[in-house]
Amino acid sequence: MREIEDIDTGAVSVGVPSLSIERPAVYVVATPIGNLADIGQRAVAILGQVDYILCEDTRHSRPLLEHYGIATRTMALHEHNERQVAAGFVRRLQERAESCALISDAGTPLISDPGFVLVRSAVEAGLKIIGIPGPCALVAALSIAGLPTDRFVFEGFLPSAAGPRSARLERLAGEVRTMIFYEAPHRLMATVGSLCTAFGATRDAVVVRELSKRFETVYRAPLGQLEATLAADPNAARGEQVILVAGAPVLDESQAEIDRMLEVVFKHTDRKTAIRIVSTLTGVGRNALYQRLLELERGGD
Ligand code: SAM
Repeated sequence: MREIEDIDTGAVSVGVPSLSIERPAVYVVATPIGNLADIGQRAVAILGQVDYILCEDTRHSRPLLEHYGIATRTMALHEHNERQVAAGFVRRLQERAESCALISDAGTPLISDPGFVLVRSAVEAGLKIIGIPGPCALVAALSIAGLPTDRFVFEGFLPSAAGPRSARLERLAGEVRTMIFYEAPHRLMATVGSLCTAFGATRDAVVVRELSKRFETVYRAPLGQLEATLAADPNAARGEQVILVAGAPVLDESQAEIDRMLEVVFKHTDRKTAIRIVSTLTGVGRNALYQRLLELERGGD
């Protein structure tokens, strides 16, 4: 079999390649998020040659491994056992000079998936950790959403309980970067509703569904219309979705003036009325003003 020693050359080989495996080491390997073909040759080679693969769910990963003829032993590392087993795996890798690969059910491990405790333990033990890049739903969604990509923030899954959820959204009201959320299909509509309440009906948003799969679909609309746009497609809440929301408009150099207006008006009336008045006078969105007023009250600059 062809040896790929210089992995930086970008050389393309055919068949399942082999390469030199570092020992001891942890390889963090991204796997497809829908299309089995979305995996690199290096990832396949590593999965085929490490001493064992730590899977979020060994049964879930079986079809992928079989598809690529990978017969490496698998063991489970998931959110329910990671705290108990991570340190033991790290010790074992060091003592036996072994290498393992970490994979999750789909995409990049640790990104809203297990693996953090293992990687942290490996870092603390001075073990080599090697990332094998590949699919990640948030990056794929951002790359096609048509929202600004120069600065963005990944918020993962919002809390499901109403209180913590609205508290999180309240903190994000003045966020100027594009925001990216993961969501479970059965909560999609409710979450779009919460986002609209928090960020206002005019804020641009995008839902990207079933990335890399047969029914990949992108829905683009301001938050106030997004629910109706999604409701028009009976399949919209099926499968997997990423939600992206444009950041709040950036306040310009008249910030000091707006701050002063907020402070003066707020001295004479309640917070809600103050924000409404300043919003009407300046054209700045109420959510951004709300966030700014909170900052000023906290003594922010
Ligand atoms: N580790 C994964 C990654 O790198 O993207 C994410 C795992 S997280 C448990 C699962 C969430 O990712 C889903 O609820 C959905 O929000 C998003 N997701 C995963 N695959 C997707 C796909 N093919 N299309 C759209 N969203 C996807």
